[in-house]
Amino acid sequence: MEPLIYEMSSPGRCGANLPECDVPERPVEDLLGAENLRSDLPLPEVSELDVMRHYVRLSQRNYGIEVGFYPLGSCTMKYNPRVHEKVAGLAGFAQLHPLQPEQTVQGALQLMWELQQYLGEIAGMDAVTLQPAAGAHGELLSLMMFKAYHASRGEATQRRVVLVPDSAHGTNPASAASCGFSVRTLPSDRRGCIDLQALKEAVGPDTVGLMLTNPNTLGLFETQVLEVCEVVHAAGGLVYCDGANMNALLGIARPGDMGFDAVHFNLHKTFSTPHGGGGPGAGAIAVKAFLEPYLPVPVVARRPDGSFALEYDRPLSIGRIHSFTGNFLNAVRAYAYIRALGPEGLLAVAEHAVLNANYVRVKLQEILPAAYDRLCMHECVLTAQRYKTEYGVRALDIAKRLIDYGFHPPTMYFPLIVPEALMIEPTETESVETLDAFVDALHRIAEEAREHPDLLHEAPHHTPVRRLDEAKAAKELCVCWRA
Ligand SMILES: *Cc1c(COP(=O)(O)O)cnc(C)c1O
Repeated sequence: MEPLIYEMSSPGRCGANLPECDVPERPVEDLLGAENLRSDLPLPEVSELDVMRHYVRLSQRNYGIEVGFYPLGSCTMKYNPRVHEKVAGLAGFAQLHPLQPEQTVQGALQLMWELQQYLGEIAGMDAVTLQPAAGAHGELLSLMMFKAYHASRGEATQRRVVLVPDSAHGTNPASAASCGFSVRTLPSDRRGCIDLQALKEAVGPDTVGLMLTNPNTLGLFETQVLEVCEVVHAAGGLVYCDGANMNALLGIARPGDMGFDAVHFNLHKTFSTPHGGGGPGAGAIAVKAFLEPYLPVPVVARRPDGSFALEYDRPLSIGRIHSFTGNFLNAVRAYAYIRALGPEGLLAVAEHAVLNANYVRVKLQEILPAAYDRLCMHECVLTAQRYKTEYGVRALDIAKRLIDYGFHPPTMYFPLIVPEALMIEPTETESVETLDAFVDALHRIAEEAREHPDLLHEAPHHTPVRRLDEAKAAKELCVCWRA
């Protein structure tokens, strides 16, 4: 068992070797005030080598996309090519100060402006902002713009309800509530799509708009999307596309052409910038021209002379939603990704993402059938219901056992409408050998479920820590060391 860094402490050891002070020293009491100083802070005292070994050992226990297959559905854990890190690390990008004069950051502004053009083209939309720091942040921003639009027509007090299908990602209703709206949930139909009849009954003069994910979180294309958008528009509402995962659509279909008014991209999913450790993300949004006046400031714009500028004078703007221009280095990585692949490369991403997901779906259909038996898009949602009924083995147990086989588990129990759901998103970068190995592991696990269900109940067996009490960890969060 790896000790905590505190447990490795030995008085007098020191990991830092600081140069001698070359300015006059002042007592720290003068700077901070004696009442703010504490004498009981038990910081660990360890040598540099001990610190280094401790954290390298911990890092080697981490599972990441560079270690193995990571089919975490809806999260698009695709490989981030190393050249992106090189580009994002260039001093001309990484060491910019956000308050530098505009003429000294023309290259950075040009990159943002060009990325906006590319994302607008991919979305089939007219205007883009890179500011939101996450997908959920892009959702919130779009709803704030919907609110401003309805207000401009004198309908702000009347339009209070956001419609959200029951298969939606939890951020959708959360964003609507954060924006002060109430949420009405719509059922899915037999094919796993939004129920058009229920939508027709739900829309009305109180509708702010509909938030729809396409492909939806069942990994299925919303085949009636044109009619869905028409129904909402006819009632005076707007339609928002949750475009967190655009892997199936790149170069093939565009939310703007489907009738959506706004869409967010997760640059940290579709456009490969790394994520999973809690940040920093980037949730750029793209909107139709009639929403452009409400975009947050500053807007990255090109002047008639070809130079680039940050525009603040936008009287209808909803204001600021992030400091400066958002998480710029994520924009650099997304730009590098798009430029490296080009239009044909992006199309190939979509084709391979869809092919890989369907390959896995079909190879598993005997043991883990799809919740909806249709061609899927970039991910497939399977159900382990049969194992629960017959052997008392849950999707959770299967996921935990996959860890023993060296794979990151898929997303579980999402979307909420599928019992014992396993949501598998291979992404486009995986080879057929990797997919086969994963499929093989699941076939072996299915056999184990029938013959030795307890092997699964107790999994994982080969990890530094065994199965954790996840409910306790969530409810009694303890991240502080105490003696
Ligand atoms: C990931 C995801 C989101 C939220 O994105 P964050 O960057 O985590 O806020 C929203 N909708 C769907 C479908 C997603 O997969």
